[in-house]
Amino acid sequence: MNAWEKGFLDGLRPQEPLTVDAWSDKYRILSSRGAAEPGKYRTDRAPFMREPMRELSTDSSIQRVVLMFAAQLGKSETMLNWVAYCIDYAPAPMLLIQPSLSMAQRLSKQRLEPMLQETPRLADKIPPARSRDSGNSQYAKIFPGGFLAIGGSNSAASLRSMPARYIGLDEISAYPGDVDGEGDPVALAEKRASTFTKRKIFLTSTPTIKGSCRIEAEYEESDQRKFYCGCPICGFYQVLMFEQLRFDSKKLDKVEYECISCKERFDETAKTTMLRKGEWRATKPENAGITAGFWLNGLASPMGWLSWFEICDEFLKAKQNPALMRTWVNTRKAETFSYEYQEKLNAEALMDTRSDYLPGTIPEPVVCLCMGVDVQGGMGSATSRLEVSTWGYSPDPSGIAENMYLIDHNIIYGDPNQGEVWTGLDVLLNAEYEHPSGAKMKISGCAVDSGGLATSSVYEWCMRRRNKGVIAIKGSSRSGGPIIGKGSRVDINYSGRVRKKSGVVYLLNTEDIKDRIFSKIKGSGKIFFHSETTSEYFKELTGEYRTQKTNSKGYPVSTYEKKPNQAVEKLDCCVYSYSAYQLLTKTAPKGKFFDIYAKKLLNPTNSSDKKTLNSKHASSKQANFVNQW
Ligand SMILES: [Zn+2]
Repeated sequence: MNAWEKGFLDGLRPQEPLTVDAWSDKYRILSSRGAAEPGKYRTDRAPFMREPMRELSTDSSIQRVVLMFAAQLGKSETMLNWVAYCIDYAPAPMLLIQPSLSMAQRLSKQRLEPMLQETPRLADKIPPARSRDSGNSQYAKIFPGGFLAIGGSNSAASLRSMPARYIGLDEISAYPGDVDGEGDPVALAEKRASTFTKRKIFLTSTPTIKGSCRIEAEYEESDQRKFYCGCPICGFYQVLMFEQLRFDSKKLDKVEYECISCKERFDETAKTTMLRKGEWRATKPENAGITAGFWLNGLASPMGWLSWFEICDEFLKAKQNPALMRTWVNTRKAETFSYEYQEKLNAEALMDTRSDYLPGTIPEPVVCLCMGVDVQGGMGSATSRLEVSTWGYSPDPSGIAENMYLIDHNIIYGDPNQGEVWTGLDVLLNAEYEHPSGAKMKISGCAVDSGGLATSSVYEWCMRRRNKGVIAIKGSSRSGGPIIGKGSRVDINYSGRVRKKSGVVYLLNTEDIKDRIFSKIKGSGKIFFHSETTSEYFKELTGEYRTQKTNSKGYPVSTYEKKPNQAVEKLDCCVYSYSAYQLLTKTAPKGKFFDIYAKKLLNPTNSSDKKTLNSKHASSKQANFVNQW
């Protein structure tokens, strides 16, 4: 038979029925450029992926497949298997969405392109992304019978492109609540498939915050399948849960699993067989129909990927640093993280946590001081004032996070649009403190709120003191970005004269900073208060809590809200001080921050002057401000 005849006969032969997993086992090659284990793909390596892949296959009547998975379980490889299967076996228009355009670009370059080139079944269907007219760019791949468009959830243009029969939505819990004012990105994308009767929507993500997590909401509406594995000793089928791991939290040497039925213990080597014999069971069968939901935590990660030992080790580290706990709960337990505990923060209980050091004195671990200034009133308000907190910072013994020490809090009354309060603030800024080593300490950083009614005065004062680490900041409730943004140039309008772009303002991610501060307060041992801290101070510091609200598009979002009738200036000052500290650590050479500051303290330039604090308090009186706490 010549080649032409063979080709002709191949064309006539009915297509063998294939599922995504069978196609992948037969044809998929994992590229050495993108995969940890290059070579032929084997579903047996991660057997829990077989059923989701079957539901993604053309012969399943399921329209929506939801994966609420821990990290490192092979979600994105499964997404790629499905893409490859559709291109080769069931071609149709396809849309693949990543949280952002830059992530889409990375996926295309690092994972998709190698797969297309190195899987022989696909290589001749899509030419390499070199030539302009090949129909193959980073964001679009044309193949016989269809195309693949790749976009970001942060771009409405990506989401309202042409109709598509297959929609892949990756890491949906990281999508914005609203995109370019056009609404929910998941709903926008899904609309693309509404005209196709045999559509498939594939949604994946690790979870995020309880109450505002998309993947959890999707999973809850599904038939809620969980992966059951048989105990190697008694055979009882159960979902592997972190709570059943047994280990010594003081000295982590071995990790075992305790069966919930026979209470016998076994080690991780049993996992390979358990996973192979494991099965998905719907825990909400009454929801069965259109959406198949799969939930899996990190304990099911195949041998050689993520071990039980690593999960426990990470857990013990996260316990030391509550800020890490959220990530651990999301990416290992595959559970949403709840902020409920913050509502339990009780100001009265905090009174018992006060330390012995006096206000205005420096505890020994402190290596740097940063001030946070909240600007209140203006325009003739009787309660106009500056509130000023000075916080000390020290390295955490475990090296994970810094400790904070409240040094003092001052209030300077007066109109922030007049000069006097700023003269008072200069006194505080220039004050010298004495470290127990005898070294003199000055304020290293200072952040002033520019969001009130005295914006130009704030800009002006800060601009002239840039060399003292003084910055103007503005709070932003958008979480997810950096703690403190890059500074942006602003005009200063002072006494009627406008100087173009002569000031700089830094945008703060106040939500994430508050998360960190509240984690410290809850975690204890990370934040310290001097002996005279009042209950009023603690009330203001804990005057906000995280809660869920519905945004204008009807989507739940998690945000901070004030307790009723509660002032929160002390919390704001703490947030601002922390931002000034963060900017210092960012601008210091990487990893060198505490070295630089600690060295300064060990080599004091003038250790004979023991009167620094007294002189500071003397000038306080002249400047007419009240040292309240
Ligand atoms: Zn058992």
